[in-house]
Amino acid sequence: MLEGKGRGVVATRDFKPGDVVMATPPLALVTAHVRQRPDGELVVDSILDRRLYGSKWFSVLYDGSARSCKAGLSYAPQEEAAGAVSSEPDGRPAAPPEPLLASTSAPSKAAAAAAAPKKKGFLASRGAGRKGAGKGAAGAAEAGPAVGGAAEGAELPLPDRREQTRLAKVVKFNCFGDDAEDLAACAARGEEPRGHIGLWPEFAMLNHSCAPNTVNYVVAGSMVVRAVAPIAQGEEVTICYLGRPQLLPFNKRIAILSEDYGFECNCARCLAEQAHVDKLDDAFLEFHEEVEERLGPAFLEARALGDTAAVEEVAEAVAAGLRKLYNLFRKTLLAPDVRQYYIASLYDAYDLAFSCAAALGRGEDGSALQACLKSMEVVSAGSDLHAILAVRHHDHVLATHGPDSPLTALARSALRRAYVARYGAVSEAVMERLVDLNRKLHVQADAADAEAGATAAEADAGAGAGDVSA
Ligand SMILES: [Zn+2]
Repeated sequence: MLEGKGRGVVATRDFKPGDVVMATPPLALVTAHVRQRPDGELVVDSILDRRLYGSKWFSVLYDGSARSCKAGLSYAPQEEAAGAVSSEPDGRPAAPPEPLLASTSAPSKAAAAAAAPKKKGFLASRGAGRKGAGKGAAGAAEAGPAVGGAAEGAELPLPDRREQTRLAKVVKFNCFGDDAEDLAACAARGEEPRGHIGLWPEFAMLNHSCAPNTVNYVVAGSMVVRAVAPIAQGEEVTICYLGRPQLLPFNKRIAILSEDYGFECNCARCLAEQAHVDKLDDAFLEFHEEVEERLGPAFLEARALGDTAAVEEVAEAVAAGLRKLYNLFRKTLLAPDVRQYYIASLYDAYDLAFSCAAALGRGEDGSALQACLKSMEVVSAGSDLHAILAVRHHDHVLATHGPDSPLTALARSALRRAYVARYGAVSEAVMERLVDLNRKLHVQADAADAEAGATAAEADAGAGAGDVSA
């Protein structure tokens, strides 16, 4: 229990960036052979089919009720080694290392959860009956092995309808899923990246921050949580529940967290962005909406029509908006970290600028890349986006300044920091391999996609012209 914060996970020793803070097997896991996150309902089905609902975790994990926020636990890792994983004598399915329930009084406002399924009506559509687990994305989802899980078919009566609804809520608030595992790491291991969704109970106890001190992802079914900043013994370990919406302005993040998880975010980044937004005269939020609602769609339309002049117009509007905001940042005398928070919240605008440059056949914008990279280091270190931006920035600086420039050495250090945060302190050779794979699987693939889009637009424009003349 954390003073004023409720339940959370605290470091039991110091960690440096790249250190594994937690690596934990799933209670339930559903994977798909397509690159698409399977539906959260399949996790509930898997828990029912495998009779995993006997696990004490279900009395501890957040289910949306105030009572479940107060369920405290003390977890002794040595119990795992002592054989808590083996079957219980009454024939009930074995559960993963069990938490020890403890009485507590302080309420928690934060739901321990990772990215929950966003599908509307997930709970409403959940029937009382059991459903097969094989109806996932494109019918390719399969229930994965629940490591340390149950003996299948053990005799444990099915929970009643009310308890099944509660189980579905536990899954909604606590599960984590993604469209694919790390593409570069999978390629290096010779594995196909899989869509996945699952429940990792220990991981689900971590609280949210919009600028967390860890990164997490799934490796061979286990959830890996890695420090991306120095974490001192006694400090809270945080993850981000949001995924890509992490790079939205604070008011949008707060709305998502409130709607999907039922708490108000008071993380350092939210507080800082909120405190300054008045001084920035709403220009920040206005610009973000302009990008989202007008400039973004205008760009897609212009690119589809092959209208270079219109793409150029969008590019100029984005650049002008960014210049105006940077002037405001200067006048407002933002602290360096707060400035990075804001720049991270502007990523959609930068992304649009990058797309315009690609559509116009221009090279990378070095200063925009550097600005984004710096903000990712502060807000989303170790994310796949951070690793990819670090490669693009490094390659751009190398091409511009050559291998012997001090700027290239700095870009190389930034690249190394990104890769240590994401993959740990790997050797130079392994890092080089992962950099190459990320370059091939993301940077070049994205460039090829952009080119294909432009070519398709040209072809469409040609066909259109043909139609007119016909
Ligand atoms: Zn926040």
